[in-house]
Amino acid sequence: MALLQRRTQRRNTSSRTSHEAWPTSEALSFRELREILHRMPKIDLHRHLEGSLRLQTLTEIALEHGIDLPSYRTEDLRRYVQARNDEPDYHRFLAKFRLLRRFYQSRAALERIAAEVVADAAEDNVRYLELRFNPIALSRAQRFPLRDVVEWVTGAISQAQQTHPVTVRLILQIGRDEVPRVAEEILELALAYRARGIVGLDLAGDEVNYPAHRLAHIYQRARQEGLGVTIHAGEAGGAANVRDAILRFHAQRIGHGLHAMENSEVVRLLMERNIALEVCPTSNLQTGAIYSFSHHPLPDMLALGLRATLNTDDPSISDTTLTDEYLVAVTAMGLNLEQIRTMVFNALDAAFLPEVERASLREQFTAWDTLQILEEP
Ligand SMILES: [Zn+2]
Repeated sequence: MALLQRRTQRRNTSSRTSHEAWPTSEALSFRELREILHRMPKIDLHRHLEGSLRLQTLTEIALEHGIDLPSYRTEDLRRYVQARNDEPDYHRFLAKFRLLRRFYQSRAALERIAAEVVADAAEDNVRYLELRFNPIALSRAQRFPLRDVVEWVTGAISQAQQTHPVTVRLILQIGRDEVPRVAEEILELALAYRARGIVGLDLAGDEVNYPAHRLAHIYQRARQEGLGVTIHAGEAGGAANVRDAILRFHAQRIGHGLHAMENSEVVRLLMERNIALEVCPTSNLQTGAIYSFSHHPLPDMLALGLRATLNTDDPSISDTTLTDEYLVAVTAMGLNLEQIRTMVFNALDAAFLPEVERASLREQFTAWDTLQILEEP
């Protein structure tokens, strides 16, 4: 049955507005569903530059710079870089970054990697992306000055946006094991590069062994200065980490936040403060944060009215795209297309953008809502 005919199979609800022509996901084949989700303009608030390197690019950089690898065939590299066939494990997942960080060998390599992230996001019809990176991690291979790294990445991203239909903003990331002096330096860089698209500060890394309370004041200051704050919490650690992220670090968004659902007090806190949850299902499966997609708390988050969003985390490590994550949400978690749409608009509301820019982006997404999604492929 053609998609056009199925447009008449509408769900009978009175709350429909501009998206009233959405087909039900049950009526679509897997291929048609994937096409719709791919074509749909999307927002990714949680993607790491360091987890977004194309395999082909890795091979080419390795050959160019003489990086010692177990193999130089792109397909062979897959099992070293990607987590898809690994036993789910948080620390094993994080260890993938140790290999990936060897590829930041030159300014040209860094700029290429950054530009390719923008191209890949645009190809997946991501129309607004908040990309995060840890300048320490990118500087380490060649001991580049941190400021140079930030300069190169912001420059490459801004140039790539001129040729791809995606708006990109940047978040600087601090590791949980970072010393306060270096963390402060990263905050200063974030503030200094606001005009170049840096909009927020993130805390990431080993949540089990590093509560990172000694860094909390840096995030409080980031908020006072007008930067957005997002904290990885409740992924490998418990609900208490999510509470800390909100109360001590003043987070407006939580990376993952799955274990918050185990504590009603923390759930209430998320609701009262309208904190956004950056959910990344495939990553959650691969880190062992969930046992299976059917155990994922995302449907419960949405049922409670929490501000849940859907994101990729590390497309290269997880071998995924945002379209794939949407597909998983529909086919493996039972969400419908209206819930998918809700998450896109949740992401829009939670983006670290000034209100004027948010309003303009909302206009675009509202216009795209019916125009693009339902056009015939
Ligand atoms: Zn992450």
